[in-house]
Amino acid sequence: MSDTKVYLLDGGTLVIDGFHAFWNRGPGGELRFPCYAVLIEHADGLYIFDTGYDHAHVMDVLPFEKPLQTPEQTIPGALAKIGKKPSDINYVINSHYHFDHCGGNKYLTEACTVCHSKELEACECFQPFEALGYSDLSFDSDLEAKRDAKAGKTPAEPPLDIYTPKYETVTGDQEIAKGLWLFETPGHTAGHYSLMVELANRRPMLFTADACYSQKNMDLMCISSFHLDPVASLQSMVKLKEIAEKHDAEMFYSHDPDSFGSYLQAPGFYS
Ligand SMILES: [Zn+2]
Repeated sequence: MSDTKVYLLDGGTLVIDGFHAFWNRGPGGELRFPCYAVLIEHADGLYIFDTGYDHAHVMDVLPFEKPLQTPEQTIPGALAKIGKKPSDINYVINSHYHFDHCGGNKYLTEACTVCHSKELEACECFQPFEALGYSDLSFDSDLEAKRDAKAGKTPAEPPLDIYTPKYETVTGDQEIAKGLWLFETPGHTAGHYSLMVELANRRPMLFTADACYSQKNMDLMCISSFHLDPVASLQSMVKLKEIAEKHDAEMFYSHDPDSFGSYLQAPGFYS
């Protein structure tokens, strides 16, 4: 059995204001930050943790986030760089369903989708202030059709012909495959998960996802302004620190312009 490998797939960049990245703290002004997906080559199959954003969707719905993404930074493009194709992926794990974490799901038509049961519920029933976050439901055409019907929108013409994935919803902290751990880190959204990957030759990698955008957020214990519950968000950051300490894990942040350059990116890999 070969060792687990982890590839970071660069997904391009977006812009938000500094006051959103560092809630009630700032400083304000444009902050351009990276998005990426995590591919895990595991004895049980190919897993992908989050799938970045869809450029056309962002231009359509949130053009003020100024997406910069090359064809190599899409899920099909990034997979091609390491000799894989979307249909090779066996499992998609979504930390949560904000548009910058599920934009590439629609390409992964053979995969089983793993997420927190509360997060799937949130896609259908979110708070009004979460509408832009949950704006890309293209990973599930049934869900998208339901939401459009609720909003009184006429169905897309020609009809959306994507697919409805097979889900495996989970709750609680779980080892979903040998050395792949999901830790509940709610607050940013209702059913947010962070992922820890144990590897043979290095410290475990702890992918915070949006429970913590960057090292600076962690150093300041400052959450982002995009959250369902600020107190739970902060508790999740404390939990991540405790997990990292307990397992001697290295944290990899979701949107860290300062750290991202030091992360090894595909075709390089961690093992
Ligand atoms: Zn995000």
